[in-house]
Amino acid sequence: MHFNCNFSLEHYFDVLDYAKKSYKIGIIKDFYKLQKNNRFIILRHDVDFSIDISLELAKLEMEHGISSTYFILLQSQYYNALSDLNIEKIKQFLKFGHEIGLHYDLSPTKSDEQALDMVIKESELLENLINSKICSISPHNVSLTSKKIIYDHLNFIDATDPKILNSVKYVSDSVQNWRSGCMCNHIDNESKLIILTHPIWWMKSPNSREKILSNFEINQMETIRTLVNETKQIHQSYFEKLKNE
Ligand SMILES: [Zn+2]
Ligand SMILES: [Zn+2]
Repeated sequence: MHFNCNFSLEHYFDVLDYAKKSYKIGIIKDFYKLQKNNRFIILRHDVDFSIDISLELAKLEMEHGISSTYFILLQSQYYNALSDLNIEKIKQFLKFGHEIGLHYDLSPTKSDEQALDMVIKESELLENLINSKICSISPHNVSLTSKKIIYDHLNFIDATDPKILNSVKYVSDSVQNWRSGCMCNHIDNESKLIILTHPIWWMKSPNSREKILSNFEINQMETIRTLVNETKQIHQSYFEKLKNE
C-alpha cells in the first residue's frame, strides 16, 4: 500500500484504517494479551500540550473503531489536569473507549526512590479523580533526565519498559519527526508495533511544527484573556456589592 506521508488526520486514519484489517489495534494495558496475536499495533499518545486537541483525536479514533492509550501529565506547564473541567474531559476519553495512563515527569525528583514514590502518588491521585484504575504509565521528556523508574517494582505497565520495547518495533513522532520513517512504512513490514504519536502534530490540514506551535500560543493567550476578563467581572461585582452595603 502506498501512502502520501504528511501529518494530516487524513493520512493518520488512512494508515490505521488500512492497518486494522490485518492487525489487532489495542492499548498498552493489554500488551500481554495482545502478544497472543500474530500481528498487533499498540497506539499510544502523550498529551504534552492540550487535552482539547487530544480529545478531538480520541473522538475521531472512536468513530474509526480504534482504541488507544492517552497519557496525561499532572505536571504540565500548559494544562491543569486537576481542574474540574479537565477531569470531566479526561473521563470522556474513557467513554470513547480509550485507556487513560499517567505521563510522569521525573525531572523534579532527586533519586530513583523518590521517582517511584512520585509515580505511585500521582497515579493514585489521577485514578481517584477519574474513578478509574491507572494501569499504564509513560515518561515525559526521557532525554532530559537521568532518573529512572525501577520497572520491576511497579504494579504498572510502563510503555517504555525494555521488556516491552525489545519485543516490538517502536516508532514515535516526537518533535513531529519520525526518526525511523512515517508509521505507514512499518505496516506490513513489522508484525508487532508500538506507535507513539503526539496529538498536537496532527491537524486536518498538515502544518509545520512552528506554525502549529504559534497557533497553539495564540489559543492559549485567548484562553488566558477570557479567564482574566471573567476575573475582572467578578472583581467588579464584588466592589459594586461593597458600595451598596
Ligand atoms: Zn506515512
Ligand atoms: Zn511527554
